[in-house]
Amino acid sequence: MNQGTGNREQGTGTSHSAPFPVPRSLFLATRSVAVLGATGSIGGSALDVIARHPDRFRASVLAAHRKLDELVALCVRFRPDLAVIADPALEHSLRDKLAAAGLPTRAAAGEAALRDAAAGECCDTVIAAIVGAAGLESTLAAARAGKRLLLANKESVVMAGALLAEALAAGGGTLIPIDSEHNAIFQCLPPQRASLAASGVRKILLTASGGPFRGKRRAELAGITPDQACAHPNWVMGRKISVDSATLMNKGLEVIEAHWLFSAAPEQIEVVVHPQSIVHSLVEYADGSVLAQLGNPDMRTALAHALAWPERVDAGVKPLDLKTIGQLQFEAPDRDTFRCLDLAYQVLAAGGTAPTVLNAANEIAVAAFLEGSLPFLAIAELIEATLAAVPAEPQTTLEALVYADLTARREAQRIMRRAFC
Ligand code: NAD
Ligand code: MG
Repeated sequence: MNQGTGNREQGTGTSHSAPFPVPRSLFLATRSVAVLGATGSIGGSALDVIARHPDRFRASVLAAHRKLDELVALCVRFRPDLAVIADPALEHSLRDKLAAAGLPTRAAAGEAALRDAAAGECCDTVIAAIVGAAGLESTLAAARAGKRLLLANKESVVMAGALLAEALAAGGGTLIPIDSEHNAIFQCLPPQRASLAASGVRKILLTASGGPFRGKRRAELAGITPDQACAHPNWVMGRKISVDSATLMNKGLEVIEAHWLFSAAPEQIEVVVHPQSIVHSLVEYADGSVLAQLGNPDMRTALAHALAWPERVDAGVKPLDLKTIGQLQFEAPDRDTFRCLDLAYQVLAAGGTAPTVLNAANEIAVAAFLEGSLPFLAIAELIEATLAAVPAEPQTTLEALVYADLTARREAQRIMRRAFC
């Protein structure tokens, strides 16, 4: 994918491959940033970084799903040009509340408005921080429009990696990963590269905290509650990704994400459990060098890096004190207990619509688990059963992917009703 090599950055048009120092004129005086998923965990961290640098960044678009009052409160604080609420039923309320607050912010609603906001003139940078498949179309729209795309919404890459690569190539924009592991890898790779092989990269090592149930055996996970699954030892995140971390599906999705973002073959991507979440990922080179990016587990580092790249700005993150941390541990993942990781490698090998089916089944399973209607251990079983029931198609057009996504959701619901409820 076209990452960090965009030709649409404003300024002289000089390539970022230029040797240090990069000309100051390459950088925008102020970036206009659309924060899609503004009321979420990543959205909040992004806005925290933006607020620290009013001379560099402006939140020009804020978008959320249904949390109307939270969105309006953010509008009062950031005074964006545009606010988008995904639920069309809330459009009038949003408009009324913005007017009552005396704000000049325009209101829009619905999926098409989200897409338009991502591609429109109100922003040069898009933070794709919607959770799940709901983020796909706005992510693609931002890529097609050549925006600087700061990607947190890993599900869109998993569902539609090839389409996203095409959209980025067509738009000529820049993708900078926000997922901490991929942001770390981005930082450890040379800024311009024809391929991993040409850069002497042997392997990508994705670190995983192991989640709240690291070290537990299957039998100990039978009665796990949503709150237990969401109590991540190192990161504070939305509930869906927290459950994904607990099942190791998050790492599985990240393996697929790394495949697309860095053109890495599946066998070049290795998962290493690192409970402290200090080493965010590593890149191994042919000469035996291994480069890693370290920091405290705080998403503001990745967000500040991506917002300011290729410069660096303060993220408000506590400095890393290795003496206090003392020890860093590494171990192999327990693939028998946490089967989702292998399911992700399997769909990556299968290709076509298989990762889309995996993602859809996972979204259904996690939502059911969070509602209390599916046991924790049944998440992997439901995904496996859905993969068996919905054969992968080679086509990866948007229509084929949407169809595979819908079919997998329906099938997962059907299997769940029959087998697990
Ligand atoms: P979250 O649940 O805290 O926030 C999700 C955001 O998406 C909210 O603002 C919500 O309003 C919006 N949203 C939900 N459904 C929507 C819809 N149908 N239409 C429009 N907006 C919708 O989630 P999060 O933890 O911030 O994660 C967001 C994304 O970032 C996910 O893809 C996740 O995997 C990824 N990510 C998160 C973290 C983290 O630390 N939280 C780290 C890496 C990657
Ligand atoms: Mg991650």
